[in-house]
Amino acid sequence: MTETHCPYCSLQCGMRLTGRRSPEVSAWEEFPVNEGGLCRKGWNAAGLYNNRDRLTTPLVRDRATGEFRPVSWDEALDTIAEKLTALKAEHGPDSVAVFGGGGLTNEKAYQLGKFARVALGTSQIDYNGRWCMSSAASAGTRAFGLDRGLPFPLKDLEQTDVAVLVGSNLAETMPPAARHLDALRERGGTVVVIDPRRTATADRADVVLQPVPGTDLALALGVLHLLVAGGHVDEQYVADRTTGFEDVRRSVASWWPERVERVTGVPAAEVRAIAQLLGSARKVMVLTARGAEQHSQGSDTVLAWINVALALGQCGTTYGGYGCLTGQGNGQGGREHGQKADQLPGYRMIDDPAAREHVAGVWGVPPESLPGKGRSAYELLDALGTEAGPKAMLVFGSNIVVSAPNASHVTRRLESLDLLVVADIVLSETAAIADVVLPVTQWAEETGTMTNLEGRVILRRRAITPPSGVRSDLEVLQGLAKRLDSPIPFETDPEEIFAELGLATRGGKADYSGITYARIAEEMGVFWPCPVSTGSTTEDGSTNEKHPGTPRMFLEEFATPDGRARFHAVEHRGAAEQPDADYPVHLTTGRVLAQYQSGAQTRRVRDLPDTGAFVEMHPMLAGRIGAADGATVRVTTRRGTMTAPARVVDTIRPDTVFVPFHWVGANRLTNDALDPASRMPEFKVCAAAVTT
Ligand code: SF4
Repeated sequence: MTETHCPYCSLQCGMRLTGRRSPEVSAWEEFPVNEGGLCRKGWNAAGLYNNRDRLTTPLVRDRATGEFRPVSWDEALDTIAEKLTALKAEHGPDSVAVFGGGGLTNEKAYQLGKFARVALGTSQIDYNGRWCMSSAASAGTRAFGLDRGLPFPLKDLEQTDVAVLVGSNLAETMPPAARHLDALRERGGTVVVIDPRRTATADRADVVLQPVPGTDLALALGVLHLLVAGGHVDEQYVADRTTGFEDVRRSVASWWPERVERVTGVPAAEVRAIAQLLGSARKVMVLTARGAEQHSQGSDTVLAWINVALALGQCGTTYGGYGCLTGQGNGQGGREHGQKADQLPGYRMIDDPAAREHVAGVWGVPPESLPGKGRSAYELLDALGTEAGPKAMLVFGSNIVVSAPNASHVTRRLESLDLLVVADIVLSETAAIADVVLPVTQWAEETGTMTNLEGRVILRRRAITPPSGVRSDLEVLQGLAKRLDSPIPFETDPEEIFAELGLATRGGKADYSGITYARIAEEMGVFWPCPVSTGSTTEDGSTNEKHPGTPRMFLEEFATPDGRARFHAVEHRGAAEQPDADYPVHLTTGRVLAQYQSGAQTRRVRDLPDTGAFVEMHPMLAGRIGAADGATVRVTTRRGTMTAPARVVDTIRPDTVFVPFHWVGANRLTNDALDPASRMPEFKVCAAAVTT
């Protein structure tokens, strides 16, 4: 029996696995995050083991026939290395790109960033986490000086008085976490859900607001306007712990409730009621998720809600404040260790000379050999195969063909490459168009750390034996680095890599240097930042007192140079694409309980229902276009079209349709307009036409 964690979302629920060849999942009650609870995906996590779709042999596309043929690992890696070497010689190192994922372990994310910068020498690396919570990360960094999704343990939710969930469907995306909402309500607290759809989470709430998609920012401005007008701003806190409020006070002056109603569709009386609720509460917790963040104004939307939490004097106090509910399994750690275009490990910025020197020192290379900033995820994909863009790309842990916005365009860019390499466990839609496919180990077949949505670093242990023929991503990187004549060797032992990661992050914002595999196992997770020692002197004169980790951040001060949080005055711009005569409704996308992300894993698990995509719409809209429940309808946007059965429900706004994104189709429709700060695409809203 092995204690490990679920392969899917950022809650990283603890579970036990028994049986090395035919694994079975059972509850791990002692693990504090989920206390034995799992969602349907977690209970069926072992369903991918022994799956008939599992890849066990490298594949190379035969140029003559266009078909894949099985090859040896040596042939596959030699083929890749020869092509990359030739491209680099002809076009320079930036002709090769690397695309990572928010589901990769910390060790893989770290090693991937190092591989790109040192073995390939390319600046062209980014990852699909850019599409997950980068708007919240950007806003958190600007407001608090540091981004950690939740700066407090999730269980703190139970002790607040009012929890406001903006664009989060917690009950469906991470069901074991929803028990905290129930516990809060049992204590007499209030749950507010803000979402264009009345979701399963809304069913567990006391107050539900259903704004027009893309208007959460305007709603926040209106709430703050009323808090100011009602004298609910914690002026002492604002004076002691923040800067920039006067600009914000002025900027919300014109957002009176009737104007908010016109923009958001939320009745003015409901805006007044929520402001009154927040203004009179002792403790308020504001949590955002993708619904608020995946917009071309996503980072400003998060800043607007942070402004609300700061004005109420909540951030950096116990049981109050702001947090982001990260999505992917390692959405947090994945953004800290160097697979992002502008970052080095430990949340260090790649254009900071001191950061380059520190990390280069750990890697044993000259700082000047490290490339600079690359392109963000969508900009990178958009440049593939163009005159100035990369000619080859290596993809790890991402199914871009399904998950990228404006996916038909992105697929054409992938197809235009001289070389596309995909490392995956199954022939995903992206692997299916690759030139070389590398079969790699999955989740419980390998050991590594993940950092959950609370900033808790946890240990996923190897529990089952991988099928023969597959290799870990770490072995793939080692094999390629050797063939590319990397100036430094690449290790494959995850624990050794984690120790090196600790050194690379030492002194950085996300400092992991005091965390070891042994500590994680003993303490059931360690919260970063966790430096090697507290720096204080113990009674026996030793200065090496073990740092306990940091479950709650900002209690003393924020991570800005002066220790104060920053207000930012932001304005509502609206979605990049507004409905018009040709495309009269809003399209929004999201997840369903039984599936995860692009579905490459969960769609293959027999015991998880694979319903296929559907188009959720209100009876009024269905009546207007003559659609019956279950009948096929067509959704068209300026970028593409798809058909799926209508699902007619009265829980969605009449001006909005919803399509889940786990199947090919939804992202052919979505808009690639980017947030100027985070470079997050506008997945969550665009203009669409729905016809029968
Ligand atoms: S998918 Fe998320 S909520 Fe469900 S069991 Fe896995 S980690 Fe827990």
